[in-house]
Amino acid sequence: MDSSWLVPVSLVFGFLVGVGLVSLMHLAAARGERAHRVINASVPDGVDAVIDALDTGGIVVDPSNVVIKASPGALAYGLVAHGALVHPELVAIVNRVRKSGESVNEEVEVARGPFGDVSMAMSVRVARLGSRYVLLLAEDRTESHRLDAVRRDFIANISHELKTPIGAVGLLAEALQAASDEPAQVRRFAKRLTREADRLASITQEIIELSRLQAADALTEASLVSLDEVVHLALDETRVLAEANRVRVVAGSSSKAQVFGDTALLVTALHNLIANAIQYSPKGSRVGVGVRLESGVIEIAVTDQGPGIPEDELDRVFERFFRGDPARSRRTGGSGLGLSIVKHIVQNHGGDVRVWSQVGRGSTFTIRLPEASRTTSAGATP
Ligand code: ADP
Repeated sequence: MDSSWLVPVSLVFGFLVGVGLVSLMHLAAARGERAHRVINASVPDGVDAVIDALDTGGIVVDPSNVVIKASPGALAYGLVAHGALVHPELVAIVNRVRKSGESVNEEVEVARGPFGDVSMAMSVRVARLGSRYVLLLAEDRTESHRLDAVRRDFIANISHELKTPIGAVGLLAEALQAASDEPAQVRRFAKRLTREADRLASITQEIIELSRLQAADALTEASLVSLDEVVHLALDETRVLAEANRVRVVAGSSSKAQVFGDTALLVTALHNLIANAIQYSPKGSRVGVGVRLESGVIEIAVTDQGPGIPEDELDRVFERFFRGDPARSRRTGGSGLGLSIVKHIVQNHGGDVRVWSQVGRGSTFTIRLPEASRTTSAGATP
């Protein structure tokens, strides 16, 4: 078959595509320049510099609501597109202020991103700027609202957790008084009283630990830490628990790995994982603790042959006060804070903690930390 005609046809086609592309690029450049011009049109004296210095959202619009100045923060929040305000809620406030001349201080919920499925809580101040312009200042309050909610939840949870043992202590004290002539009963109630007091002490200790970890200066005691030592100390601390539960804890060979951090905190994190593994393991089973180093990341894995964690709970186990089976956890003295303490310690060290688990097969919790030589240039000092 003669295919010589194909050559000129493809040449013409290629030429047309080329011309099309070049025109599109010109068009795009012209649009970009127009948008740039709109954003940079003149604003009243001094306002330009103030808006540039803002790290929140600052926008100036002209009488037709064309944005003539926007701070980088306003662009980052996605409040401005193609030289105009994106959110009708904000346009409405601007129009109201222009008309009434009165400044407005409001909180509005606006869509974040192009799909509108996530929202942001924006605190906005809108005021007239001279006779022509309107100034809009906006601040994202979403994170601070979330933290308020977390704080409220936390306090509600703590009160709930403390209420049970405090109530029990009161009842047991009354029972002790009533049974003062019966030594056997007194011994029984006293034993239960001690258990409740221990529980109260461990919850308060964990709460103190968690709030200390959330403080910004949690890592003031940082130094070079040997992971072998961390494993050794955590195994030492959990030995009695392992013996009482008849679980064998087996550690892998030494790793020589080092991290930059706080030994006591890292021991607490590993202790919590090993203690959980022991408590959730059947008698006679094995818990493995292994450290390995791969491309600058240290992985400390704790594996058990326990009941495993259902898939829908895997994401939740690191939440404060989350307990898969509250009755079981209460029996083992758990407060549901152990894993969130692990998560905070690891995050304070620049790492993360992951879980693999299958119901009926067991679980593996893995702490991942950056190796010391990668976190510090000198190796020993921050
Ligand atoms: P606690 O153990 O005090 O309940 P944690 O924060 O340590 O609290 O653990 C939260 C939940 O995660 C537990 O209640 C349990 O449901 C689950 N969990 C943690 N570790 C294990 C494990 N090794 N095997 C099975 N489930 C676990």
